[in-house]
Amino acid sequence: MRHFNNPSILEENSQKELTTVPGPLVTKNIIKNSLSNDFEEAKKEWELVTHISSESDEFVENCQLCNHKNYIENWLIQNTNTKALLKVGSDCIRRFIQFAGTANQHDSNTFFAIKEKEIGKELELRTSYKEVIGSPLPTVRAANRFKKLCKELLESRGQIHLLATIDGQYEVIQQLFRVNTPTEKEKKNFEWLMHDPPKLPVQKETKKFRDIKYKEGTTLRRSAKVTRSTLANSKVYQDPSKKYD
Ligand SMILES: [Zn+2]
Repeated sequence: MRHFNNPSILEENSQKELTTVPGPLVTKNIIKNSLSNDFEEAKKEWELVTHISSESDEFVENCQLCNHKNYIENWLIQNTNTKALLKVGSDCIRRFIQFAGTANQHDSNTFFAIKEKEIGKELELRTSYKEVIGSPLPTVRAANRFKKLCKELLESRGQIHLLATIDGQYEVIQQLFRVNTPTEKEKKNFEWLMHDPPKLPVQKETKKFRDIKYKEGTTLRRSAKVTRSTLANSKVYQDPSKKYD
């Protein structure tokens, strides 16, 4: 109980909670870049521009609102009046930014949670692009997940129509997957996966991952036998309800 006598520790602990009361630095940075001089108004002038991962050249280590170190990502936000841009951490957004057009902090955070989820899907698609579209034989599981995520993301962004044309698919490969110069084979694989999956060559997994229960002490001696197949021949593909466990 000794530490309760130490006011500096008390102060430090209370600051760790996700309070929406801004410190002087956050208040200064928001007001400096906004039209209003009232923090409660100024925090509503912002909109979300994009996500910046730590691997990007655009990434900055310190949150431009609170100056705390970021390790994973920045979110780029822009003031709708002054056009000022700030790269900030997700905690600062949830605490100190109420996105323009949202009714209150809770709604703003709900909107932001949706955006975070979308970015998660986007990053997963970019990571698995090579395995599913670029490599000769993705697993059925990976191919199905790629297709599902891709459709969900394009639907939520109102871009599902892009899949209908070859040009649109090319745009998705370039802009969503960030692959500037896909090979002809990659373009074909993507078209097949989205529109004619039986043509996409995949690995047939004779032993499904989910059927193997790993218990402590057992050894992983059963290895999956890989044979050339297509999505159409796969049981997983034919029973869509069992695809994603
Ligand atoms: Zn911050």
